[in-house]
Amino acid sequence: MSETATDVDDGHAQAVAALGRAQRVLAVGHLPLDGDGLGSALGLVHALRDAGREAAAIVGAEPTSRLTFLPGLDEALRPPAAPPFKPDLLVALDGGSVDRFADLLAYADGAPVLNVDHHVTNTNFGDINWVDGSAAATGLMIYELLGECGLPIGPEAAECLYVSLVTDTGRFSYSNTTPRVHHAAAELIVRGVQPDVVFRHLYRSRSRAELHLRREVLQRLGTGCNGRLAWTEVTLAMCEECGVPANESQDLVDLPVSLAGVHVAVLFRETGDGIHVSLRSPGKLDVASFAQQRGGGGHPRAAGFTGRGPLGALRDHVLRDLDVAVRDGDPA
Ligand code: AMP
Ligand code: MN
Ligand code: MN
Repeated sequence: MSETATDVDDGHAQAVAALGRAQRVLAVGHLPLDGDGLGSALGLVHALRDAGREAAAIVGAEPTSRLTFLPGLDEALRPPAAPPFKPDLLVALDGGSVDRFADLLAYADGAPVLNVDHHVTNTNFGDINWVDGSAAATGLMIYELLGECGLPIGPEAAECLYVSLVTDTGRFSYSNTTPRVHHAAAELIVRGVQPDVVFRHLYRSRSRAELHLRREVLQRLGTGCNGRLAWTEVTLAMCEECGVPANESQDLVDLPVSLAGVHVAVLFRETGDGIHVSLRSPGKLDVASFAQQRGGGGHPRAAGFTGRGPLGALRDHVLRDLDVAVRDGDPA
């Protein structure tokens, strides 16, 4: 399903034309909300509004407390509310398939859907599909698109798009942190972003309860495959005992991935709708295809899928498969 250069160019040209024409735009990031999906939706809306167009972001779930500082959340459309206008374009951001948006794409109400995404597993579900697997973040694609359409990037749009870059590059630490990312980040700082303020909101505002949960999650750290595989888990009961809302636990996969020598890190997270499995691959294994074979998707180095519980049985099964995949595809 990987895109060719021609597909990317075609999608890109169509995206420039569609956004250039559109006067009433709805923008929606995938669920659960993350920094890139939400940041790119809000960034796009700020720029369109600053240019005098009608635009609204659809926010289909409660963002984690670390993202509530993003400017524009207060004016966002909260389902099931009706949109303030009939859209002539709906932009779906950072989601590889229709199911990542629950029923939110219905807000298009007959308008074309522009699918802007950087997941190689994208199913091209839009009327226009611009999928660029070489972009570190969807927010980076939106930043470049705004420039090409001559739309203004003020301080609010800049802050939202900067959050996309920071979160999807792991604070400028993953292998997707290219010169293209740093050029965009520098330009966004010129437009008014204060990196220290953004980083404080994102990473230095944890509650004691969250740190307590981290301790519990660390105690469940497991390793296998001669230290090349590391995993941990977070259950609803652990969240409740620590007093942490379950949607605040999404980034805990950072803990097993920080262990030296790890090629694949896994977080098993109970959500109420199943067990979400987050995969990170600092080694060679393509976790996007591993996740895709299990109904999910993502990027070669960061991917996920949702499986059915009980957690222990799913964990044993996934770890057995990963053990084989790591031994076969990523020998020490
Ligand atoms: P996460 O599993 O939430 O840590 O996400 C890692 C990457 O995989 C992100 O880019 C997600 O958008 C993507 N991803 C996670 N779960 C799924 C899924 N069920 N289907 C498609 N992509 C996913
Ligand atoms: Mn995302
Ligand atoms: Mn993304």
